[in-house]
Amino acid sequence: MKSIDKDIHVLIIDDEQGIREGCARILSRIGCDVSTASRGEEGLEILEKTSDISIVLLDLKMPGIDGMEVLSRIREKYQQIMVIIMTGFATVETAIQAMKQGAYDFIPKPFEPDHVRLVVNRAREKIKLTWQTEKLTLERQRTLLDLGTEKSRLTGIIEALPNGVMVTNTQGQVVLMNPALKRQLALPKDLKSGMPIEALVEDVGFQKFVHKINESSLINPDEIYTYELILPDHKYFLARGRPVLTGDKECMGVVIILINITAMKVLDQLKSEFVAKVSHELRSPLSTIHEQLAVVLNELGQEKSSDKQEHLLSRAKEKTQGLISLIGDLLDLSRIEAGAATQDPRPVQVEDLLASIVDFLGARTKRKKQKLTLEKLSENIPPFIADPLSLESIFGNLITNAINYTPEDGTITVRIQYVNHTICVDVQDTGFGIDPKYHAKIFDRFYRVKDKNTRYVTGTGLGLPIVKGLVDALGGKISLESAFEGGTTFHVVLPMKMDIHSE
Ligand code: ADP
Repeated sequence: MKSIDKDIHVLIIDDEQGIREGCARILSRIGCDVSTASRGEEGLEILEKTSDISIVLLDLKMPGIDGMEVLSRIREKYQQIMVIIMTGFATVETAIQAMKQGAYDFIPKPFEPDHVRLVVNRAREKIKLTWQTEKLTLERQRTLLDLGTEKSRLTGIIEALPNGVMVTNTQGQVVLMNPALKRQLALPKDLKSGMPIEALVEDVGFQKFVHKINESSLINPDEIYTYELILPDHKYFLARGRPVLTGDKECMGVVIILINITAMKVLDQLKSEFVAKVSHELRSPLSTIHEQLAVVLNELGQEKSSDKQEHLLSRAKEKTQGLISLIGDLLDLSRIEAGAATQDPRPVQVEDLLASIVDFLGARTKRKKQKLTLEKLSENIPPFIADPLSLESIFGNLITNAINYTPEDGTITVRIQYVNHTICVDVQDTGFGIDPKYHAKIFDRFYRVKDKNTRYVTGTGLGLPIVKGLVDALGGKISLESAFEGGTTFHVVLPMKMDIHSE
């Protein structure tokens, strides 16, 4: 393809030397490359050898082959060349004839330089426009080709992905599924897209998950949503979804990948069963050792014995107590994982349950010279339907923590009130407090804050994960307000439900 900035090459074929030289001068001045020929044959030879000639200025009356013959040969062989006829007044008729045979324009002789410039410039503009059009067409073809290749490459990649990929539009119709997804969901290989999600996946939770991403795209366009899909044949999939947004952040639909986590789930279940079994097996002998140590220590108190022996036995008793707590926590966690937290629901008067915990832990607070009180801020609090052991575990852990992480002479206040069909319990202490940078982490398993105050408090780092797991299972929320050395308040909000099993 020619560069559109290139000079135009003009060939002048005329037997009059004056005309040839005059035209050559005019055209060179306006930036054209010029070649000349004095006869038709010579002109055709030059055309044969030179590939870039775009315009021919052609005299009609010449010795040898005349201009009309040259014109017809040019038209035959070089269709893109523009021929401008130069002719005397007497042969205007012939000029018209030449135009009919495909000449582009004509210049009557004698002519003014301006006229030659005008006609050649017009032809030149036309040629440059043709070049530009050719260039654009070629570019368009290339872009289309590139797009086509890119599209088939992307399709190939999506088809080859080992994880399932599904794309839905805003109405929840599935517009794309790769083969892996069809295999995962046991859908027919030749299933066409366009069906609503409800027709492909029975799980109502999954259907809601897809619609929820569509709806929430305006609020949280960058969030990744997850859902655990369990198929009837006990296969587990983790669905991770995001809204598909246009450049203007408008939601076009949802893209979801499906990862098979069945093997992980089986392992996790085995691990939980193992932990539950081992913890259970360890608890009885450990409790026996603990009790026996208590008896020995008691007897030693009455007899004369060395301080060293007594010290060692006390340490052993403390350690066994630590192990018993750890095992208790592990068993609690296993119970949550197995869904036991919501398994034995019955009406519980939460303020009574709190009173008995406060009463039970009173001895410990007395030893630390702490003040532990329960405040009831609402009358007629209705009973809460839940497994009482779960509630005991939630508030027992929170109040024990408040005692453990508050120095001597501190105050711990437990408040209960009933607001908007929810039971709200606050456990407030004047203790060491928790730096806000740890607030999210303290709910992770085994996470313990180690600073100058908490270093000497023994614990497992399982209390708060247990509390959070149980609160979540009951459909509630837990939050905290705390600052380093500024005391801590945990808020627990439990919504009343008529039937705990219904969603
Ligand atoms: P544990 O008490 O066995 O270490 P938890 O999961 O109950 O484990 O608590 C995690 C961490 O949170 C604790 O190690 C402690 O640093 C911090 N924490 C919990 N409750 C309080 C509280 N009331 N005051 C200060 N720190 C607390």
